[in-house]
Amino acid sequence: MHSGSCLCGGIRYELDAEPGAIEFCHCRACRKSNGTAYGANAPICISDFRIVAGVERLKAFESSPGKQRFFCGRCGSPIYSQHQKRPGMLRLRIGLLDTPTSAPPRIHFMVAHKAEWDDIRDDLPQYAEFEPGRN
Ligand SMILES: [Zn+2]
Ligand SMILES: [Zn+2]
Repeated sequence: MHSGSCLCGGIRYELDAEPGAIEFCHCRACRKSNGTAYGANAPICISDFRIVAGVERLKAFESSPGKQRFFCGRCGSPIYSQHQKRPGMLRLRIGLLDTPTSAPPRIHFMVAHKAEWDDIRDDLPQYAEFEPGRN
């Protein structure tokens, strides 16, 4: 249904379902790992997702206890994150999708940590830290 790839094209994946709604995370780790103002991530079920090329290039960094950020070891593109508290779920870095998605943007969170030059100009809900009830 969907496919995506990293910048160098070495890693390619397929996704059998529509991603969940897109979340913009302004935390320090997302800023650092993406080199941008915020991460744009969508939750997916791990059972819907498979790497179809370049799995040997996939590297991981544990940015906080139990949370692994997976990226391409050649070009550095962030691919997804996984938390040991949520074993059946991944957070896909949605900018790598090569197919159009109908997943809507939903929220901004960790807004208290956003860059001072980052001016949020949409009407999505904003949360200073995590969204209450985030699992
Ligand atoms: Zn790559
Ligand atoms: Zn974040």
